[in-house]
Amino acid sequence: MDVSKVKGIGPKSLLLLNKIGIYTLDDLVTHYPFRYDILKRSNLQEVLPEEKVIIDGKVESIPILLRFKAGLNKLNFRLVTASGVVGVSIFNRAFMKNNLTIGTNIIVIGKFDRQKNIITASDIKFGSLNNQEKIEAVYHCTSGLTNKNLTTYINTALLMNGKDITDYIPAYYQEKYQFSNKKTALNIVHNPPTLEKLKEAQIRLKYEELFSFMFKINYLKESHKKEATGIERKIDSKIVDDIVKKLPFELTNDQKKAIDEIYKDLTGKSRMNRLLQGDVGSGKTIVSVLAMYLNCISGYQSALMAPTEILATQHYNNICELLHSFPQDLSIELLKGSQTKKEKQEIYQRLENGEIDIIIGTHALIQEEVHYKSLGLVVTDEQHRFGVNQRALLNTKGMMPDILYMSATPIPRTYALTIYGDMDVSIIREMPEGRIPIQTYLKKEDEIKEVLELMNEELKEKHQIYVIAPLIEESENSDLTTVLALRDKMNLAFGSKYKIDIVHGKMASAAKDLIMQEFKQNNIQILISTTVIEVGVDVPNASMMVIFDAHRFGLSTLHQLRGRVGRGNVQSKCVLISNSDTKRLEIMQNTTDGFEISEEDFKLRGHGDLFGTKQSGDMSFKIANLKQDFKILMQAKKDSLDYLLDTKNDKEPLKIQLIESINHTAD
Ligand code: ADP
Ligand code: MG
Repeated sequence: MDVSKVKGIGPKSLLLLNKIGIYTLDDLVTHYPFRYDILKRSNLQEVLPEEKVIIDGKVESIPILLRFKAGLNKLNFRLVTASGVVGVSIFNRAFMKNNLTIGTNIIVIGKFDRQKNIITASDIKFGSLNNQEKIEAVYHCTSGLTNKNLTTYINTALLMNGKDITDYIPAYYQEKYQFSNKKTALNIVHNPPTLEKLKEAQIRLKYEELFSFMFKINYLKESHKKEATGIERKIDSKIVDDIVKKLPFELTNDQKKAIDEIYKDLTGKSRMNRLLQGDVGSGKTIVSVLAMYLNCISGYQSALMAPTEILATQHYNNICELLHSFPQDLSIELLKGSQTKKEKQEIYQRLENGEIDIIIGTHALIQEEVHYKSLGLVVTDEQHRFGVNQRALLNTKGMMPDILYMSATPIPRTYALTIYGDMDVSIIREMPEGRIPIQTYLKKEDEIKEVLELMNEELKEKHQIYVIAPLIEESENSDLTTVLALRDKMNLAFGSKYKIDIVHGKMASAAKDLIMQEFKQNNIQILISTTVIEVGVDVPNASMMVIFDAHRFGLSTLHQLRGRVGRGNVQSKCVLISNSDTKRLEIMQNTTDGFEISEEDFKLRGHGDLFGTKQSGDMSFKIANLKQDFKILMQAKKDSLDYLLDTKNDKEPLKIQLIESINHTAD
């Protein structure tokens, strides 16, 4: 059901909800709090210096607004509390001034400085505290959509009849684990009466999420087992050896091993379904090119899909180059959205005739109007962008090509084996020789001058720079650095000499591609962005990356970001700017090994942000956390397999629905 059906959500709020990814009623009620505030009145006489305090009272003086440079502002006022009058200061809440009239009841959360008798508040809420503790849900919001709005919408939605909320746990397991029903559990996570009840409800919802995820993985795994009929190619292993010998570089051992595994898949009976994992720059492309080559000379076509057109083009150029040194000429084409209808028709025609050996493009390559003469191998780059659903699409089209997924997201093996449980995994861990490791610097916010100097040096060398911020524009609940603010800052520092531009996730993809092209051609020297550049764009002349509020990103994201530089033959630099979380960020300084970093990320933050961004499709969990909830994951894995294999329940609507959700591409 569409979220606009919820009472109180008008067109304006609808847009804002869409902005944070909420379209359906289901999306709304599973927009889980990212944390809970436990509101219990502190005793100001007893609090320790760094302890968080919560106190309620009445505003006693008209707030005074102070404005500082760089858009910073501060409100000061006095508050009458049960333990006396205290001063309150809060940064960047100028907009609250008019609501804080004398006599207003408010709750202040912050740190108390006993000497000065001042609370520096991190948050102010309206209302008073009870004498008991209260658990309050805190949501990710967006400018114009407050925590209060979200709370109201979610609770209104939960009062509706509930038929639109799908429950993915089969009745048998509901009973076995004595789970509450879904609506009750949802009610509790949004309005927790006690921490104990909250925990119970969370476990139930996590189990459900992992159950339906593992059901899909198990389903795919079982279907693969049944399709024993892969293409059994006859390829002389000498051909492979000869090509490898003639390459302009010596392959690493991991590359050789991956090629060997793929060779066995291509010549073996069963269908290949393999994940090739390796850090950015580890040399996955050559492995995939060899696979495509072997497939083509056996008489089949190969398709390579990339997540964006710009990446597809990049692959096309690299692969044309690499294929030069191969013995047999192949015909290779690039399919692009910007091509005219006629050009596309011609490519479709030639694909159907079998005149094209290798086709490269986005997932337009597996859409309705594209027919192949004999598609034997599909390679997808950045696997995590192709959901479980897309994996199944090829099968439903009646094509049974071998599939090679490439991913630059290193995941520890234990987890890889579970969440990619339906695939075989090849890992390239070793980097090619001769890379110059990127130098990573940690800087505090007040060291910005030094950062600008470092930037200036790079620019003088005619190199380019990426600058990353966690947010696009200002939002009420945060004082994080924004892309828009950085543009002003950078223009002030470098605008007279260099071209500066921005790119972010809310731009149309054509506009994004255009900016990336301009950056690639060095028509832009400083590119400011959110994490949208995370995926594989290759600009060897970019030798520096500056990341603001670095603590806001998971280590894996930082690693992916950092991988954008260090691709040329000069020493590259990465500067992480943050005032907090230094211990964690030091890991980035100490290693450039993606697998090591992801292990650390798992240790520190559960699944970290490996799948954290929206783009990661089926790998982003809303409530479960792969590491912390590993036990639940294992149970869900077992239960979902039992459920799948038990034919007695084949007619159950839930089972049918689970299977349909795999076969229907909804992405
Ligand atoms: P990935 O796709 O894993 O990010 P690429 O395949 O694009 O990495 O490889 C990065 C660069 O390293 C390319 O320029 C490629 O030609 C080069 N390369 C790959 N393997 C080797 C190797 N064994 N020795 C030296 N250079 C290599
Ligand atoms: Mg790549």
